[in-house]
Amino acid sequence: MSKPKVLIIYTGGTIGMIRDEKKGTLKPFRLERVVKSIPSILELGVEIHSIELDEIIDSSNVTPSVWIELAEIIRDYYNDFDGFVILHGSDTMAYSASALSFLLENLGKPVIFTGSQLPIGLPRTDARENLITALTIAGMRNRHGQSFIPEVCIYFEDQLYRGNRTYKHNSENFDAFVSRNYPILGEAGVRIRIFEERLLTQSNKNLVVHTSLNTNVAVVKLFPGLILGSFPKLFKHSGIEVVILETYGSGNGPTNGDFLPAVKEMIDNGILVLNITQCREGRVEMGKYETSEKLLSLGVINGADLTFESAITKAMFILALTNDLKERRHLLTTDLRGEMTL
Ligand code: ASP
Repeated sequence: MSKPKVLIIYTGGTIGMIRDEKKGTLKPFRLERVVKSIPSILELGVEIHSIELDEIIDSSNVTPSVWIELAEIIRDYYNDFDGFVILHGSDTMAYSASALSFLLENLGKPVIFTGSQLPIGLPRTDARENLITALTIAGMRNRHGQSFIPEVCIYFEDQLYRGNRTYKHNSENFDAFVSRNYPILGEAGVRIRIFEERLLTQSNKNLVVHTSLNTNVAVVKLFPGLILGSFPKLFKHSGIEVVILETYGSGNGPTNGDFLPAVKEMIDNGILVLNITQCREGRVEMGKYETSEKLLSLGVINGADLTFESAITKAMFILALTNDLKERRHLLTTDLRGEMTL
């Protein structure tokens, strides 16, 4: 059997950074340098090709147009490769992985985001292991010689996660990511174990690559003392179509003050209000307390256990997909890519 083929798509991030001698800051560098730093990459038994974005960036500079560019690259090379590894800064990696999961419908091959906390050239770097294992996983095939991880994932510090369930929780440690509401998809120790029963099921439909996103999305994070009164007018005149409401606990908000009238006004203005919780583990259960029952009766949408990163990118995706308000509501509460537990 021929070697599996994996395409590395390099976007930037710490993994390939070098120190700017004058300023002392880290800045992105080119891909050849990254790959040259790991000669053992050539012994992996995987045929590796690579491509890089025109502009190599720190992931704080990621925009939705970068997500579309990545989706288009995967579309263009989809039939030529068994899997894809996207080298990306960790800061916004969870947003990018979530966005890609929505843009790539019926994905049948692994798309694995990885990066590192220390640049690849440093002696204690985590980049080598992350890259080598991500490449190995991206090239894995089942006994019929086919790719069997049909998901956008993040691989970081020995763990393989469903991308749209993760968030960056640590800026210091090598285990920068966690997935609180869905178990890991795989683990790399002496052997690499993939928990197949946790993977999405392979679709027998062809890949559909979506290439538009609509960024008319805003976020309101509750805190005691928040004055929401002027927000509806502000949103109305800015074209905002989805407001993500980050509520307390299991989806609760105040029943006093201007909060509920302001939410009602937003909904009356045609804005979709999506309720997600500030807790990183657990879910919204509207109706459990009086403080969320009111939101339910106003027509606030239940975001269940969506991560913040998934809520943002899912909203952008759905707004671009359809103009129909009912359909938008329906899709927001539908599990599209394993991003929410219903
Ligand atoms: N600032 C970097 C970035 O996200 C951090 C990293 O790569 O981990 O691009």
